[in-house]
Amino acid sequence: MLEVVRIPVLSDNYVWLLHDPASAETVAVDPAVADPVLAAAAARGWSIGQIWNTHWHGDHVGGNAAIKAATGCIITGPAAEAGKIGTLDRTVEEGDCVRIGDHAATVIEVPAHTAGHIAYHLAGDRIIFVGDTLFAMGCGRLFEGTAAQMFANMARLAALPDETAVYCAHEYTLSNGRFALTVEPDNAAIAARVAAVEAARVRGEPTVPTSIGEERATNIFMRARSVEQLAERRAAKDAA
Ligand code: ZN
Ligand code: FE
Repeated sequence: MLEVVRIPVLSDNYVWLLHDPASAETVAVDPAVADPVLAAAAARGWSIGQIWNTHWHGDHVGGNAAIKAATGCIITGPAAEAGKIGTLDRTVEEGDCVRIGDHAATVIEVPAHTAGHIAYHLAGDRIIFVGDTLFAMGCGRLFEGTAAQMFANMARLAALPDETAVYCAHEYTLSNGRFALTVEPDNAAIAARVAAVEAARVRGEPTVPTSIGEERATNIFMRARSVEQLAERRAAKDAA
């Protein structure tokens, strides 16, 4: 069984440490910064052998160089964004496989938030790292892509098994949920989830990972019936 450790950094980022006890390998996913990530690994006696980046934004790659300097780790990221991430050792694209011990992650291209954004799907472990593409009750902003691309991404992610654990890179759930309620005010699953999220945040607890099943029930971007509807909802959320 893989272990996943959440490291909250900056104002609302989550860096994920993925550890395979069988091989003693550890991967840092989207390290925004280095020191808290190195400290979290050291506290567990783990050494970071790889970094997996989902996209080029600074709050996802900012720790690359210092973690590599400290550990000599191998850094993997999207081929389409290699020009924007100076620290990559290995570039990957749709269908490529990266490994942690005996566990395989398949690369899925999910362009829209950035033009080369990728996700890492460990199908055998029912885990996916989605960066800034899918959030709990939300989706990434369309900085370098289109609503049509994000609609296709949502359909693709929605087709994964419901129990798939979704590790996203930000704690945006409360804001997403409150907006979702304005779009689907009669959706009881959204209302119940927002109430639970409000309580969790009051207690200072995180609300991710989420799951594909939860998102299918409560994510108004995944639930959009057309590109136009997703575009409308994304624009309204941006303006909210
Ligand atoms: Zn981003
Ligand atoms: Fe981000």
